[in-house]
Amino acid sequence: MNAIDGEAVHDHRRLGRELGLFDTDPLIGAGLPYWLPDGAALRHALEEYIRGQERAAGYRHVYSPVLGKRELYEVSGHWAHYREDMFPPMEVGGEEMVLRPSLCPHHAVLFRSRARSYRELPLRMAELGGMFRAELSGVLGGLTRVRAIQLNDAHIFCTPEQVGQEAAGALEMIGRAYDAMGIRAARYRLSLPGKGGKYVAAPEAWRRATEELVDVLERLGLPYDADEGEAAFYGPKIDVQVIDHAGRESTLSTVQVDFHQPERFDLRYVGADGGRHRPVMVHRSVVGSVERAVAHLVEVHGGAFPVWLAPVQVVVLPVGADQRASAEAFAARCAALGLRAEVSDPEDGSLGARIRQARLVPYQAVVGPREVADGLVALRLRDGRRPRPLPEAEAAARIAAVAGEHGVRLWDEQEDDRVR
Ligand SMILES: [Zn+2]
Repeated sequence: MNAIDGEAVHDHRRLGRELGLFDTDPLIGAGLPYWLPDGAALRHALEEYIRGQERAAGYRHVYSPVLGKRELYEVSGHWAHYREDMFPPMEVGGEEMVLRPSLCPHHAVLFRSRARSYRELPLRMAELGGMFRAELSGVLGGLTRVRAIQLNDAHIFCTPEQVGQEAAGALEMIGRAYDAMGIRAARYRLSLPGKGGKYVAAPEAWRRATEELVDVLERLGLPYDADEGEAAFYGPKIDVQVIDHAGRESTLSTVQVDFHQPERFDLRYVGADGGRHRPVMVHRSVVGSVERAVAHLVEVHGGAFPVWLAPVQVVVLPVGADQRASAEAFAARCAALGLRAEVSDPEDGSLGARIRQARLVPYQAVVGPREVADGLVALRLRDGRRPRPLPEAEAAARIAAVAGEHGVRLWDEQEDDRVR
């Protein structure tokens, strides 16, 4: 690894191991990370936030299998245009099964599982699901080049007239999520097809889809660059680009307009005129793959995550063994409000050492003899602020309120916080 200090500190692979978030093992395989409890806690928080945002925006969640018959991907076009990135088929009972390279084909099949009316559109189908990519060089210990991917995905089946509004809604949701996560887009990229046979040939569909995306970018006033050779094989897309610790750019979020797969799967809905019409598919991902999103969060925050994402949100520090029971009661009170709280035991070191140990945790709650006598806790915030000691119930409630904001601020400072 490069020995430049700043770079080493912010490399997500090293931090992921140091913080006990995730790792890989050669016996499991390169590019196949596993998640430790703190990493899983962060990931759950992120996934629950996304599902909540999606529910509020009218998405319905589904589950679909992580593999399917080869024919499914022949219909979708993945087999013809994307096979190099797919794992080879497995033969089972005379059929060829493949690990899926994307969720769209399954969702298209779910859409056509029964007759659809125009009144159901836009039909927003979301799934945080597994998919696979046959990366030749999975970087050991990393989350950015993985072979097993958990994608925050959704497909919006809509009329051509609804495409602009749905794409704009997706971009707005991406903007809100970035604010919540404390990250920012480096640039918006309009990804167009390049040369070669990688892309489906349908000039009229490409032109219409590109027009829709340009229109949305301009309406939202988002500056963008157009890059050729970056489109999906089935259509153009808007990619939201971020920059990692080493200055490398990658795509985190994406919004795509697809006229191709609805045709391949012969998707239809019954219109107001009683006739059968073809929907358009808008593919969108708010945080991209969970792996890449967490890698980026680790690099941006260096382990000091926004409160709602922090694996441990409150560390309770009894000054001595006599306060252990009170500390455990406060931790339980926090947990009952949905917070992730732990007690740092006096046997694990001096109070100063335990405070240093917990320096990335947003809140340290110190419980000494005086606090126990008064039913108070003395909070120390990660940024060094120390509000006046608060009654236990109030301290826990105020922490829970900040966590529930899904923002980046650490404390909702009130008038009398500073009075000691
Ligand atoms: Zn898709």
